[in-house]
Amino acid sequence: MIYLNNMLVPDNKAVVSVFDHGFLYGDGVYETLRAYDGVLFKLNEHIERLFNSASLIKLKLPKTREEIRKAAYETLQANRLKEAYVRITVSRGAGPIGLDPRLCPQPTLVIIANPFKDYPPSYYKKGVKVAIVKTRRNFKRAIDPQIKSLNFLNNVLAKTEAINRGAYEAVMLNYRGYVAEGTISNIFFVKDKVLCTPSVEVGILDGITRRIILDVAKEMGVKVKEGRFRPDEIYEADEVFISNTTMEVMPVKEVDNAMFNVSGGDITKVIHKAYRTKVREYMRGKDR
Ligand code: PLP
Repeated sequence: MIYLNNMLVPDNKAVVSVFDHGFLYGDGVYETLRAYDGVLFKLNEHIERLFNSASLIKLKLPKTREEIRKAAYETLQANRLKEAYVRITVSRGAGPIGLDPRLCPQPTLVIIANPFKDYPPSYYKKGVKVAIVKTRRNFKRAIDPQIKSLNFLNNVLAKTEAINRGAYEAVMLNYRGYVAEGTISNIFFVKDKVLCTPSVEVGILDGITRRIILDVAKEMGVKVKEGRFRPDEIYEADEVFISNTTMEVMPVKEVDNAMFNVSGGDITKVIHKAYRTKVREYMRGKDR
């Protein structure tokens, strides 16, 4: 069952207009969440980011935070899912062809809940391959990466480059050549026991997983550095990992020609473990 605007409908009835500006122009925003044992992890944070993305594109959401929270749980439960991937999409809605957002009086809301598909265990055991690609991350004064928007061509182009180079994820640099982020992930590296990650100012999405990782690292007494980093600093790192809501903390074994010893990736493992503890605490209702 899919949540479409105001109700749950079967998949084959969940249809959106060809005049929807989400389809015509990528005009809209979205969030991806993960449910653990029927609990939508960090739901409030995701809804807050959805509202923030919407406000950055001057889109007024058709529902309140509470209504969206409720709709997300209804969708999860209608599909009888415990371990799930949930996507909340809000587009500008249907209207005549033309860019003026005022042409679309009613935004379209879609919530999809699918069973969560585990990543192959080898990704965590051995690490994944990442390529630093030629496609640059959107310039933040053109399309701010803080907007989690439906306009994903920047990321699709980067991902295509990664695929062509046999890599699992692409890492983009910003317009000035500083490391920014992956196509659907944030990047971290460890050098001399300091956990480093590009700062939001570089022009990245303020990942919710990223925030949790920075918190757990600080709680564990790991030194953290958010800043501007060149690709060389990644190549010379001791450990590298990527993060997002579904993958959590995923070790990287290779960036371009630089190899990392994943089995020795101590800080990555400790951080992932601490992240899982946060998930369990959240599920027990401690952190909601
Ligand atoms: N960066 C980009 C471009 C993303 O699309 C995502 C998530 O899909 C992330 C980072 C990670 O964000 P989060 O940890 O909130 O899932």
